[in-house]
Amino acid sequence: MRVLTIILAAFLSAAASGYAAGKAEHVVVVVWDGMRPDFVNETNTPTLYQLAREGVFFQNHHAVFLSSTEVNATAMATGCYPNRSGILGNHEYRPQINPLTNVAVEALDTVRKGDEITHNHYLQLPTLAEILQHAGKKTTIAGAKPVALLQDRLEQGRVCADCVDLFERRTVPAAAVDKLDLPAFTPRDIPNTRQDEVITHALIGPMWDKDVPAFSLLWLSEPDATQHASGLGTAKALKALKSSDDNLARVLKELTARGIRDKTDVFVISDHGFSTISRVLNVAAFLKDAGFNAAREFKQPPVNGDVMVVGNGGTALLYVIGHDPKLIHKMVELLQAQDFAGVILTREPIEGTFTLDKVRINTPDAPDIAVSLRWTRDKNDAGIPGSLPCESSLGVNQGIHSSLSPFDIHNTLIAAGPDFQKGWVDHLPSGNIDLAPTVLHILGVPAPERMDGRVLSEALTSGTSKSPDPVTHTFDATRDLGTSVWQQYLRVTEFGGTTYLDEGNGHSEPRK
Ligand SMILES: [Zn+2]
Repeated sequence: MRVLTIILAAFLSAAASGYAAGKAEHVVVVVWDGMRPDFVNETNTPTLYQLAREGVFFQNHHAVFLSSTEVNATAMATGCYPNRSGILGNHEYRPQINPLTNVAVEALDTVRKGDEITHNHYLQLPTLAEILQHAGKKTTIAGAKPVALLQDRLEQGRVCADCVDLFERRTVPAAAVDKLDLPAFTPRDIPNTRQDEVITHALIGPMWDKDVPAFSLLWLSEPDATQHASGLGTAKALKALKSSDDNLARVLKELTARGIRDKTDVFVISDHGFSTISRVLNVAAFLKDAGFNAAREFKQPPVNGDVMVVGNGGTALLYVIGHDPKLIHKMVELLQAQDFAGVILTREPIEGTFTLDKVRINTPDAPDIAVSLRWTRDKNDAGIPGSLPCESSLGVNQGIHSSLSPFDIHNTLIAAGPDFQKGWVDHLPSGNIDLAPTVLHILGVPAPERMDGRVLSEALTSGTSKSPDPVTHTFDATRDLGTSVWQQYLRVTEFGGTTYLDEGNGHSEPRK
């Protein structure tokens, strides 16, 4: 209720002061899950390539860390880093929800239980869709993956009866799914063409039945699903790119058919980049062999000193029950000597690590240790650069992400429409946290509180960006381990009051 009051107060005062809005009456965001920017070209993705030529290609775009789906969906929705939104991993250990193992943060059961124990603050901030609805705008969300739920999840207290969130085959409000009459499809075909096509048709058909709302978001499962299963740049992965390109074409064609293409700003964005798996890890088994009580799943309620290991692909999260500092130090020292460790992040300061706040993942439920795995620029069999060890059930040469590798954390943004420059490449840093503030600006709705992201004003026709040039900093941490020296770095860029994470990695060298 507090949030609602603040939003309404802000909205009314802004309305009174004649808040400047963009020219577009509609904003459509199409998410290509896992789309790397270097895959955009005339052959792979002709529609997206053409859209970039008509609008702006954001050359230096950034995901937030962890560079995974749910974390970046939340960053797009809230305009904020995980430390403010509350979601830092696709999988997290939330003992209040499940004391025995990790939870998928986007699963309906997790979300409902999370909202129950936090009085509807499972996400600690209002989402873009919620803010727009409170300002009297209509929104429609359609996703081929459960992640779409996070955009507009609350069943109770909805201010817009017609605003529907479709995630997989369910909806909020729950009854709305009956009107969509979704045809059957097999979830997770590779490429997942049929499912993405069905959801696209649901959006541009029954969900846009009366009219195209002020804000629509379509979350496509490709190319992520196929890149995980078949690897980057494979024949199947190229088909998956084409599948998302065809769905983008369907959306654009519908806007043209309705005569509103020139009144619509279209964003194509990805949640994260991608890497090739060089090696498969089991961090829990490794720690167990080293004498720690580590597990991916507890057989009974844990006791102090037990360690829950939660794999998130390119990053492993370690939760130490009881937070014993001696045990945590011992584990960090062991990890610093391993060839799979990239950047080691800890809740409390420890020599040779960065604290969680450095990458903005210091949430209330954060792990004691997070290890972003060590990446290289090595190419896979298809010649695609970027490789990474992986803590998951996937195998070598399949695809993965979630690390601080530049191949994971640099992702795609292209925007075109009446508010955007035409045929322009933006070399300035931008990020997924900039989506919400930019959409709010275009639709003339003020943010209820300051977001971490910024309005991408340099790319707008109305833009008057006078920010000083971006400044890049590199942070280092080292530790003498006796026979070797551990070193890790983190590179960040500051621009226009916003911080972007560029990359981080680590290694140990024999002591000179
Ligand atoms: Zn994803």
